[in-house]
Amino acid sequence: AKRQGRNTWQWFKGCQTAHSRHSVMMRHELNTALLEEQLELHYQPQVDATNGGIRSVEALVRWRHPTRGMISPGEFIPLAEHTGQIIPLGRWILYQACRDIAELYANTGRRLPVAVNISSLQFRRDGFFEEVEHALACSGLPPALLELEVTESVLLDGAEPVVELMEKLNMMGISVALDDFGTGFSSLSYLCDLPARKLKLDRSFVQKAQQDHRIAAIVEGVITMAHHMEMVVVAEGVETREEQQDMVRRQCDLLQGFLFSRPIPLGDLMTLPVQLPAD
Ligand code: C2E
Ligand code: CA
Ligand code: CA
Ligand code: CA
Repeated sequence: AKRQGRNTWQWFKGCQTAHSRHSVMMRHELNTALLEEQLELHYQPQVDATNGGIRSVEALVRWRHPTRGMISPGEFIPLAEHTGQIIPLGRWILYQACRDIAELYANTGRRLPVAVNISSLQFRRDGFFEEVEHALACSGLPPALLELEVTESVLLDGAEPVVELMEKLNMMGISVALDDFGTGFSSLSYLCDLPARKLKLDRSFVQKAQQDHRIAAIVEGVITMAHHMEMVVVAEGVETREEQQDMVRRQCDLLQGFLFSRPIPLGDLMTLPVQLPAD
């Protein structure tokens, strides 16, 4: 297999552009990363908009490359989705997040829910539900402490199996959050049918709502709709005091962003105070 790999590499060297050479290399290195434990999860708190108390954390994957330093998930997640490597990668992320948060609970007694990003491919794949059950069983994490974040793109190939799976997850006590809300193209009526508990308002809206009254109108509409559907609304990417105040005023329930905390390693999460003042 190794020899064949080298031939393939020679072939690519000869006829591919620099860009795809880069992705062939990344694909190979991502396999190594999985095997050699170069990946780690960092956790970013989501705080209560009314008092700054930490309500949950979002797991965000990091790749500590031996020579190229930290590589951002924005770079390798889309590649992994393209190559199919997102399946083993996503499985590792799910298991690791469950283990970490179970460990946090064991060490500190804090029952802190963790939100794990699930790629649409991974979510729609046969056996995903069993994978989730298995991750919980292996780690001992209570289902109520697991939340799955999916984007609207999960609906692209039809909503029916997705709704069914979400209902199954809900029945088990696992909740689903709609990530990056407002950046996709699905119709609002579809979204009404989704049994999701949380809606995450994309950072682009959080940023623009103060200056642009048209964006503000969308934000208000979305928050009103979400609350009618008994969903919790999270403002993503809150960086400034002004954005914080604006999102609180507009009745967001939870806030997440650099203003409160960057994503941090598990060790730092263990010692983080339960309250995060923004100043
Ligand atoms: P996302 O799910 O929307 O995650 C939020 C991103 O915004 C994270 O970037 C986070 O570090 C960043 N962020 C948080 N607060 C602020 C802020 O105040 N200002 C700014 N400018 N950014 C903020 P990150 O970790 O680089 O992840 C980028 C994207 O990569 C994620 O977007 C998600 O789509 C994907 N991703 C990350 N981890 C995972 C994972 O474990 N699984 C999957 N499938 N995708 C992941
Ligand atoms: Ca997310
Ligand atoms: Ca997001
Ligand atoms: Ca985003």
